[in-house]
Amino acid sequence: MPPRTLSPMHNPDLLEEAAEWLREATRIVVFTGAGASAESGIPTFRDAVGLWTRFPPEQFANWKGLTRVAVSDPARLAEFLYVVFQPIAAAEPNPAHRAIARLETLVGQGGSAGRQAEQAVTVVTQNIDNLHQDAGSSRVIEVHGSLFEIVTHHGRPVGRVSREQMLAMVAAVERAKRGAFRLPRVLWAMRRIFGFDLGGIHRPSVVLFGDAMAEPAWTNAVEACRTCDLLIEVGTSGAVMPAALLPYEARSAGARVIAVDPQECPADIWLPGPAGRVLPALVDAAFPTG
Ligand code: NAD
Repeated sequence: MPPRTLSPMHNPDLLEEAAEWLREATRIVVFTGAGASAESGIPTFRDAVGLWTRFPPEQFANWKGLTRVAVSDPARLAEFLYVVFQPIAAAEPNPAHRAIARLETLVGQGGSAGRQAEQAVTVVTQNIDNLHQDAGSSRVIEVHGSLFEIVTHHGRPVGRVSREQMLAMVAAVERAKRGAFRLPRVLWAMRRIFGFDLGGIHRPSVVLFGDAMAEPAWTNAVEACRTCDLLIEVGTSGAVMPAALLPYEARSAGARVIAVDPQECPADIWLPGPAGRVLPALVDAAFPTG
């Protein structure tokens, strides 16, 4: 799928064409990756290469490895949890998340009166940061789970933590790295997220390396992509499987694909640039507010 390049700065005709596709579409999927949250201060997976050098994935990106580190080196576990949780706990939606949420409210107004009820926007996200929901998107499918949703080790939901609770927890973890009794203090600091009850250990619902995809989210995401007529792919390198297959599912079912990313992506139209600048420009072009 060789992309046609759309730069709002350099090719306004293609921006208008992409905007026209937005107005014409009945079922839109916005498929987001780490790049959509980059401007909220959360490092992307690629930016995190240094993270995986400091914290080898075979130890830190699976539940068994994390449990072993907790027992053998709680200070190191605390360091890892701080690095991963702090940017997400402190994040706020950026203009890209807000443009996607705004699209949901505008899309029904752009078509003819008869089509309004049919038009819909579904966000399918690989991110675990809850920023689409915070921005106001109402239909969000999290294919890699959520750092805020707590489940049993069988995947049964047992509760949620708020961003404020996560921020307080991150500060407590930072303090627990120092001094005596580190393991109990780290576990106490993290008790809302990694807790126990008679059903066993609880944890966030995130999908780590080697885990099965979150269900029913994955089935719903595949279905949304197979039945959409426009997919907008935002800030994803396409390196993480099987999520990377979703734009291809959409395209083979006949949908148009627009990509928003500073780096070239396979798409019908590629909009180069940061999502926080390009997405608001695209939504404004599709639905000018007067
Ligand atoms: P990735 O890190 O592999 O790729 C990021 C993509 O975003 C790249 O193509 C990059 O060019 C692009 N990008 C960087 N800045 C951007 C910007 N301002 N606007 C638009 N695009 C930008 O990300 P991935 O494909 O999503 O894979 C990473 C995996 O790790 C995902 O599965 C996700 O679950 C997880 N992850 C999640 C978060 C989060 O929740 N915010 C953060 C990091 C990683």
